[in-house]
Amino acid sequence: MGINFPLQLSYKFRLLLLFALCMMVIGWVTSSYLVAAFQEIPKVKIFNRTIIWTTELASSNKASMTKSKLKKCPLLSPHLRGTRKLIFKSDLTWGEVQTENPKVQKGRYHPEDCMALQRVAILIPHRNREKHLLYLLKHLHPFLQRQQVDYGIYVIHQAGDDKFNRARLLNVGYLEALKEENWDCFIFHDVDLIPENDLNLYMCDVHPKHLVVGRNSTGYRLRYKGYFGGVSALTRDQFYMVNGFSNNYWGWGGEDDDLRIRVEIHGMKISRPPPSIGKYTMIFHTRDKGNEENSERMKLLKQVSRVWQTDGLNSCYYNLLSVKHNPLYINITVNFHVTS
Ligand code: BGC
Repeated sequence: MGINFPLQLSYKFRLLLLFALCMMVIGWVTSSYLVAAFQEIPKVKIFNRTIIWTTELASSNKASMTKSKLKKCPLLSPHLRGTRKLIFKSDLTWGEVQTENPKVQKGRYHPEDCMALQRVAILIPHRNREKHLLYLLKHLHPFLQRQQVDYGIYVIHQAGDDKFNRARLLNVGYLEALKEENWDCFIFHDVDLIPENDLNLYMCDVHPKHLVVGRNSTGYRLRYKGYFGGVSALTRDQFYMVNGFSNNYWGWGGEDDDLRIRVEIHGMKISRPPPSIGKYTMIFHTRDKGNEENSERMKLLKQVSRVWQTDGLNSCYYNLLSVKHNPLYINITVNFHVTS
C-alpha cells in the first residue's frame, strides 16, 4: 500500500493532466474557428449610426485573398473613356451583344488582370420591355467591364397581370441574388435609362448613392431635391438596415421616395456624382399598361416611419416561377399572387 499510493496518485494526476490538455486543445480550436467565422461577416462597420464603408474590406475577404495573387484594381480604371456617344441600332440582336461581350458568362463578369474592389449586383425590374433591355445591356456590359467591376446582372421579371410593383421586384432581386453570391453592392436600375459617362462609377459608397443626376428628357436637371429614382446604389448592409423597399406600391410612383425616407430615418445621407457625370439617356416610351400612376402614394409616404420595420425585405412574399442563367443576364421570374 505504502508503495502503491504515490503511484496511484501520479496515475490520477496524469489522467487529470491529459484531460486538461484535451480541454485546452478543444478550446483553442473552437475559438479560432469562431474568430474566422466572425471575420467573414462584417463588411460595413456601424458606429453610432455612421457607416464606415471600406472598399478594401469589400473584396478582401479571406477566400478571395487566398485564391488570388492579383493586385487590387484601382478605383478609377485605366479603361475609362468619359462620355461616349450612345448608338441605338434598330436591328440590334441579342446574338450581336453576346458576340461583343465574350467574357460575360451567365450574366456575370470579373476582371482578369486585377481584383475588383466590389462585387456588384445590378437589379433590373422588368415587364414587356425587351427592346429596352437589349439596348440597356448592349451599353451596360462594356461600361461595367471598363470600370473593372466584378458584377452580375439580374433581370427580375413580373409575370401575371397584377399592377407592376417595381419595389417588390427589387426586394426579390436582392433576396435571390444573395442566394448566389455575397454581393457587396446593389444597383437598382430602371430598364430605360442608359448611363452616358463611364466615370459614373457603379460601386457603392459610405452613403447610399443616387446616380441619375439628370437625363436628356429633363434637360439633364435633377427632378427635385429629394429625387432618388431611376438608378440608385446601396451596399448590402445599407439596404438591409432600412428593410429594403416597401412592398406596397402598386403601379407607377412613390416607391423611390419611400426608400429615400427610409434612408433618412437611419441618419444616412444621399450622395450624387457631379451633374456632368451623372447623365443618362432615357429611351422614350409611353406609360405601360398595368403601370398606371399610383394615386395612393402620397398616403403611403406619410406612413413610412411607422411601417418600415414590418413592410420590406422581411415581408416580401412572392412565387418564384423560375431562375434562368441566360448568357447576358440572370432572369428571375415571379408573380405576386399571394396574400400578404
Ligand atoms: C414619384 C416618383 C418619381 C418622381 C419623378 C414622383 O412624383 O413619386 O416615384 O420617381 O415623381 O418622376
